[in-house]
Amino acid sequence: MVEPIGLNQKMLDVRAMTDAKGFSADSARIWEMLALIHTEVSEATDAYKKGEPMEHVGEELIDATIRILHLLSALDLDAEALFQAKMKKNWERPYKYNTVRGG
Ligand SMILES: [Mg+2]
Repeated sequence: MVEPIGLNQKMLDVRAMTDAKGFSADSARIWEMLALIHTEVSEATDAYKKGEPMEHVGEELIDATIRILHLLSALDLDAEALFQAKMKKNWERPYKYNTVRGG
């Protein structure tokens, strides 16, 4: 059981909702859950491309966030610890790390 702080609290909220609504977090669904994260990012891309209101673009990005938190829960990971560790790592990187073009 993860400590219910920061991102873990959101992950636990998502898990409670997805369990209540009948969306399994069984390991057999991991591939499906990964694919569904892509669908939400694609929906956000399409909404942005079509000039839809930014609230709609944001809603699709929140859908992606919810699906990511659901997957992190299914994988039994500590989302807050991973988030803090990755942010620390990213802060320690140089300006425009590993970027020659774009970004
Ligand atoms: Mg959506």
